[in-house]
Amino acid sequence: METQIQSAWQLFMTHAEFPIMICRISTARVEETNQRGLDAFGYPLSFLKASHFSDFLVSGNPNEWEEQIALKKAGLSDKWDTKIICRKNEIKSVEIKFIEIQALEDVCLIRIKEQETEDQKVRALKKQLSFYETILMQMPTEFAVLNAKWQYLFVSHNSIKDPEFREWMIGKTDYDFCRYRNKDYSIAENRHKQYNELARTKTKKEWIDEHKTADGGTKYVLRKLYPYFIDGELQMNFGFGIDITERINAEKEREKILRDMTIQNEELKQFAHITSHDLKEPLRTIASFTNILKRRYAGSFDEKGNEYMQFVVDSADRMGNLLTGLRSFVTVDLDRIEEKITDINTQKAISDAIANLKLRIEETHTNITLPTNYPNIKGHPQFFTQLFQNLILNAIKFCKKRPEIRIDWAEQTDFFQFSVQDNGIGIDDKYKERIFKLFNRLDRGKYEGTGVGLAICKKVVQLHHGSMWVESDGISGSTFFFTVKKNYLN
Ligand code: ADP
Repeated sequence: METQIQSAWQLFMTHAEFPIMICRISTARVEETNQRGLDAFGYPLSFLKASHFSDFLVSGNPNEWEEQIALKKAGLSDKWDTKIICRKNEIKSVEIKFIEIQALEDVCLIRIKEQETEDQKVRALKKQLSFYETILMQMPTEFAVLNAKWQYLFVSHNSIKDPEFREWMIGKTDYDFCRYRNKDYSIAENRHKQYNELARTKTKKEWIDEHKTADGGTKYVLRKLYPYFIDGELQMNFGFGIDITERINAEKEREKILRDMTIQNEELKQFAHITSHDLKEPLRTIASFTNILKRRYAGSFDEKGNEYMQFVVDSADRMGNLLTGLRSFVTVDLDRIEEKITDINTQKAISDAIANLKLRIEETHTNITLPTNYPNIKGHPQFFTQLFQNLILNAIKFCKKRPEIRIDWAEQTDFFQFSVQDNGIGIDDKYKERIFKLFNRLDRGKYEGTGVGLAICKKVVQLHHGSMWVESDGISGSTFFFTVKKNYLN
């Protein structure tokens, strides 16, 4: 145990960060010291061990050791600042601290902490300053420090690359800069306006500078200026310049694309409105005159003539239906929907859809299974009803037996998912995307329709920030799924 403590003690002495000495309290005789102690005094251990610590104290007070021991014993102070003499008569300012060793009588440990000389202090400060300067100089943004008279105290590499010019700027103002660079004073004037504003409001300022570049472009720099006060007096200002040219150009590009798209969208909408509305009139004329022809002159035509006449009547009818479908599609207007978004009671929306199809449901003896409860969502109630109406109508239409329809829903993290399942003819895998496109129909001739219903459904779902798809094995029915965003505005 004894030897273990001794080796721990040795370790402590070797690794201690300060010179440490073990001395007799009564005589101040040096008993032991560590390597740092030897380094600090510069004497060999044998010499130190033959000396009294008080011999090295040179503050001019011959009783210094005894007095400090007395203070320590009285519990008044255990450390003091003094001067020691080392090898080659070097005088060092030190702080000495007593550390008592309780177990050993008349023995104390003293820790010697060298105090920095003015020279050392200045050197350390310079080292620190150059460290910060290196960091500031290499900052990826432009950085400068200005005094309260708006003269530059520091300019980073990114602000001015040429070292000579950078050096020249110290002590100069923005007006000097403009003069040196043969520029008009607008930049300096604008900056000084901001500086004055900062001095008045005493808060940071931000603005964007526009600089013409050599290739005729514009460089945008976001300037941030932070004031630094001491006792309420403006002392310095820290200015940052961040190149935001790419961001500004990207924003401008996006705005342009958006503007172009809005124009194109508007033109497309107008085109669809005109097509669906204005073409109806001449179409009505064709339909009514062919009907008159058919009524009055049916006898004058042979069988082929009557057949052709019927083709014209049917085609006019069909075109009328297509135009009506197009009109309904155009009515689901993406731009205007936001204004009409409200709470939707989905139970009501679904029962309205069923009520609108009452006759068709009764005629076909359709059985509809509904969920036991319903979620409330945000959306467009009228379009939401139309969405269910189209899906239920299709489920009835594309069915060869008594239609069995199941409506259901499930809650997801951000969405509500609805489903409409039927026992109809099913949809082949290869048509699962196509059916959602405008005027796309599969079994032309066999089933009535215009191919607009699902395109409208998809558009309504998109308005509710959701998605729509169908699952089917291609023979025993289909299930149409769609989601709507829970929080419409996010
Ligand atoms: P329309 O019903 O007027 O033909 P839709 O856009 O509603 O137009 O549907 C497009 C096509 O998708 C339909 O022509 C049909 O071929 C197919 N389809 C839609 N719903 C079903 C369904 N429930 N079962 C089978 N096929 C369907």
